[in-house]
Amino acid sequence: MSNAIRIIMLGRQGAGKGTQCVRIASEFGAPHISTGEMLRAAVRKDSPLGRVVKEVLDKGELVNDELMISLVQGRIGEEDARVNGFILDGFPRTVAQAQALDHISEVRPIDMVIDLEVKRELVLSRLSARRVCEQCQANYVATGDEANPWICEKCGGSVVQRADDTPEAINHRLDLYDAMTAPLVAYYKDQNKLAVVDGLGTPDEVFTRLRTAVAGMKNR
Ligand code: AMP
Repeated sequence: MSNAIRIIMLGRQGAGKGTQCVRIASEFGAPHISTGEMLRAAVRKDSPLGRVVKEVLDKGELVNDELMISLVQGRIGEEDARVNGFILDGFPRTVAQAQALDHISEVRPIDMVIDLEVKRELVLSRLSARRVCEQCQANYVATGDEANPWICEKCGGSVVQRADDTPEAINHRLDLYDAMTAPLVAYYKDQNKLAVVDGLGTPDEVFTRLRTAVAGMKNR
């Protein structure tokens, strides 16, 4: 039997999904597929896709479902994801995307959906302090004491604030999450695939909870 795991990670922006998905991916040997990162990479490259989505991303709007579904369909059809499974971060974000994913993944279904739960008040301050390396995408938290320019200790790249981490875009993205993405918690609960994990605490504490939840699912 294949040991591949196919996981969806839900959770508000700033809940720590990115950091935790990287760790789960390395622990379980499955690629981390972040749709936000795929889109930002396209913007950085100034590819045709990047030019189409740049303004949408900067405003904190959602890219249209059709485009997102075809992007994800292509990516999860690649060999690494077919063989090893995947940790899907940032997709689905609407019920239409979830329905399309049910269809696309009929042959190799999603095993588990994690809701990484952190209250809105808390993620607001986290997002305002979030910084990211332009080159390797490592996440940092600004304290105000950093050198200027701020150099990434992992790769020497520049550490900057994401273009969509302005207060207006942050609030808009959180509103969209509540309206469009939060209903997916009930959607996957009905499919009996949902695990709610408390996102409060240090990254190590949260990861321990996540690892237990994923291992529990694998042994089901
Ligand atoms: P994230 O890194 O997941 O916060 O995504 C950054 C931005 O990419 C979002 O604010 C959206 O503009 C866009 N995006 C990422 N994933 C999706 C998706 N599944 N559907 C629509 N837009 C998305």
